[in-house]
Amino acid sequence: MLLDVRDLHVEFRTRDGVARAVNGVTYGVDAGETLAVLGESGSGKSVTAQAVMGILDTPPGRITGGQVLFRGRDLLGLKEDERRRIRGAEMAMIFQDALSSLNPVLSVGDQLGEMFVVHRGMSRKDARVKAVELMDRVRIPAAKERVRQYPHQFSGGMRQRIMIAMALALEPALIIADEPTTALDVTVQAQVMELLAELRRELGMALILITHDLGVVADVADRIAVMYAGRIVESAPVHDIYKAPAHPYTRGLLESIPRLDHKGRELHAIKGLPPSLTNIPPGCAFHPRCPLARDVCRTDVPPLHEVTRSDGPRGSACHFWRECLDG
Ligand code: SF4
Ligand code: MG
Repeated sequence: MLLDVRDLHVEFRTRDGVARAVNGVTYGVDAGETLAVLGESGSGKSVTAQAVMGILDTPPGRITGGQVLFRGRDLLGLKEDERRRIRGAEMAMIFQDALSSLNPVLSVGDQLGEMFVVHRGMSRKDARVKAVELMDRVRIPAAKERVRQYPHQFSGGMRQRIMIAMALALEPALIIADEPTTALDVTVQAQVMELLAELRRELGMALILITHDLGVVADVADRIAVMYAGRIVESAPVHDIYKAPAHPYTRGLLESIPRLDHKGRELHAIKGLPPSLTNIPPGCAFHPRCPLARDVCRTDVPPLHEVTRSDGPRGSACHFWRECLDG
């Protein structure tokens, strides 16, 4: 396994008390595999990724338990300079908002080139050649001329391509993309997602795609991990989830999006709101919103049960996963 996150816990100190943003997340990604991490905002998916990348703002964020094994090494035990060497070269991250992630006073060529200067010891001139190559690769037209331009001179979609180029520069084994298309127009979203999926395939990298949008997942992901209130509530091969979810929350998400294979069916939004992370409900955190909830759900935290009726490894943190599956 390339990345093996085990029982990760992250807390934030806030004015309202301790926010338990990540409460024992366990997930793995094999080399070349695409894992979609799905959840509403505040479910802990970005914080988990930031902890994996080693870019969690500290303080107030604090990792209070668990392991992040990358190629068998626990990254949480490494010194900051060792982590910095891994970032970019072995794992890289793409953020939602390219404009605030890129440096406004450096040309895109200088920013792309910087990766090769810092990590590969290249001269500025050779790094510039590499930058143009990368811009070609992410299909930015007239790369030779545009390499001198600044981030604000590019459209949102083009800027996101530059972010992708930056992440791919050193051909890391793992890319984490956090809502990479959320800030873009719908038509541009599809193009950027396609580009990312295609380059990932070409280079054989693993991808963790963080999204709140179940619609983008089906075409690109091998597996899905669904997060709720800082926990993974369902984890399964993508086709299994679409066929029959084994957790009522996943079911709710599926029933709230239009699907080609369920034409004419009514859409239902999940009632209620996700809980505050400073005040997570006892038992199953989803119980105030769950149509299947009963007494045990209000007191006992459901473990991630192994779902037996599946082709691949599959888990559901629901006491009544069988019932949900038969739904
Ligand atoms: Fe619903 Fe209970 Fe399952 Fe939680 S454990 S998802 S409340 S049925
Ligand atoms: Mg987020």
